[in-house]
This record gives sequence, structure tokens and C-alpha cells, in this order.
Amino acid sequence: MKLRREDMVVVLSGNFRGQGPSKIVSIDRDSRRAIVEGINNALKHVKRGHPKSPQGGRVTIPVAIDVSNLALHCSNCNRGVRVKSQMIDGAKRRVCCRCQKFL
Ligand SMILES: [Zn+2]
Repeated sequence: MKLRREDMVVVLSGNFRGQGPSKIVSIDRDSRRAIVEGINNALKHVKRGHPKSPQGGRVTIPVAIDVSNLALHCSNCNRGVRVKSQMIDGAKRRVCCRCQKFL
């Protein structure tokens, strides 16, 4: 998987298609799903005593989306791009397939 936490991504498909760039908050390698800032928030109704809402009510919770719907955002191309990895000074770095700049 070519995405990590803190990456800026754009959404390619689904309800949030075209949104971004926004930051990946967390990512699960096993289920290949990521929580992206501001994308796919749901309202959960909670009872009194919930740590995030002591008086009860509705709480906004982020819901993970599949990483296949995301693409890494390249600041140079200003769009979501495909990436390849390349060895640069002995370290594996991701490189934008469009402009060959490392990300
Ligand atoms: Zn690029």
C-alpha cells in the first residue's frame, strides 16, 4: 500500500469523489481502509455519560473509506497522482508518476 498516515490525498470515487486534498488521520493496512480528515463523517446518537458528550446527543464520528478510492496528492501537479517507489540515496522514496518529483 502506497499511502501512510499524515499523507494528503484526494478522493477518486464514491460519495466524496473530487474532495480533497485532505489529510489521512489513520490507516489500517489489514482492511485497507483509511480515515480521512473531513471525509465521510457520520452522526452517532449517544446516551448521557458518553465521554465525548456528557449530556448526550449527537456526536460526529469519522468513518473509514477504502484506500482504492484515494490517490496521493502531488503539490507540483496539484492533483491526485499514481506513485512509484525509487531508491534515492539508499532510502526508498515515493515518486510522482507524472512529474517524477519525490513526495
Ligand atoms: Zn507530480
